[in-house]
Amino acid sequence: MIAAGPTLDRYVPLLGNEVEELRALARPLAGAEVLMVNSTAVGGGVAELLGRVVPLLEELNLRAEWQVFAGGKDFFEVTKAFHNALHGGAFHGGPEAFEVFRSYSERNLARLHLDREFVVIHDPQPVAAIDGRPAGPGHWVWRCHIDLSNPNPAVWEFLQPWVVRYDAAVFSSPSFARQLPCPQYLFYPSIDPLADKNRTLEPSFVRSVLEHYGIDPGRKLLVQISRFDRLKDPVGVVRAYRIVKRYFDCQLVLAGGTADDDPEGAAVLDETREAAAGDPDIHLLQLPPDSPLEINALQTAATIVIQKSLREGFGLTVAEALWKKKPVVASAVGGIPTQVVHKQTGLLAHSVEGTAYQIRYLLAHPELAARLGAQGHEHVREQFLITGNVKRYLCLFLHMRGKL
Ligand code: UDP
Repeated sequence: MIAAGPTLDRYVPLLGNEVEELRALARPLAGAEVLMVNSTAVGGGVAELLGRVVPLLEELNLRAEWQVFAGGKDFFEVTKAFHNALHGGAFHGGPEAFEVFRSYSERNLARLHLDREFVVIHDPQPVAAIDGRPAGPGHWVWRCHIDLSNPNPAVWEFLQPWVVRYDAAVFSSPSFARQLPCPQYLFYPSIDPLADKNRTLEPSFVRSVLEHYGIDPGRKLLVQISRFDRLKDPVGVVRAYRIVKRYFDCQLVLAGGTADDDPEGAAVLDETREAAAGDPDIHLLQLPPDSPLEINALQTAATIVIQKSLREGFGLTVAEALWKKKPVVASAVGGIPTQVVHKQTGLLAHSVEGTAYQIRYLLAHPELAARLGAQGHEHVREQFLITGNVKRYLCLFLHMRGKL
């Protein structure tokens, strides 16, 4: 089930001593049984993360394992409705929805093997696994990847009795957390520098992607990679670009997934097309769902990466761009200011005009742009890499054993 991930040795050229640090931290945990539980084996950021973290923990001599909480279509309909409601949306389900959740949870308890020293349950779907907690010294962690700051009360009241029984909760941002009776920890989302989306590409490949999409490799390129979603403000990006274009020759790429099966996405794409009309230097690209190498190539080719979101969770595209040493101009929303420290690792803006101003400033000051990119890369290396995520797990486990 678990695809073999890269080995620790492959991170050494990128991270040097930090790999040794991981080995040292893991030494006292050799043989410790760790279980990760989520609700999908493939698809989605959590499965992608576990597919890398679990093999790395194994390589560090922990007995790490990943089990999947199984559900049918009805279960996932309910948990999708929970997900939206936990983000503050309305909840239209009734007692039947709660019953579906309970009944799948019971069936899963009968098949999961939960007798491990460290059990990490990811997100709300398998949260009821704590009902199967064996007596004994095991440590139970709830790793919540979503924003719980403003949940729909009906759904939160239903889930809370399970959540409060965990020994610790881990959130991706201080602003996502809730008051809970257990200690809470902060683990930032992370990117894998060896994944196709982030590894260093051959210049010839980057050039071939640009040629494929009709982009001129010899001219300045502004890039935003994002779903065609109003909250990513693609029209605002076009307007900012049009201001910049009065002063600098440049091209713009807005690349997002295909919007065909998402009515709202299609509408946003139409609005963006309209805003972009008449300028052959604006490229609106609809990428197939799984296009990590194309995304990597576009980010790598960018002169400046933009992330002009109106609201944002963490904004992984920012970490991806910074890792590629790109100067980033981004909105000061959600998790972006954690990554883009203004004038240190990029420039922040609050409006179309502000975004255009910062882009112009960077185009006029390439040495500053290069410095911000280099510092951004270091910031990601220190805070937002998957190896740092592994390190946080090791520290948490040591702490729970009372050894840190
Ligand atoms: N991404 C992608 N295809 C697209 C647009 C984005 O694969 O068409 C990737 C992007 O590289 C990033 C992730 O999807 O890794 C988006 O995460 P982010 O936190 O930036 O935004 P979200 O879409 O989750 O709001």
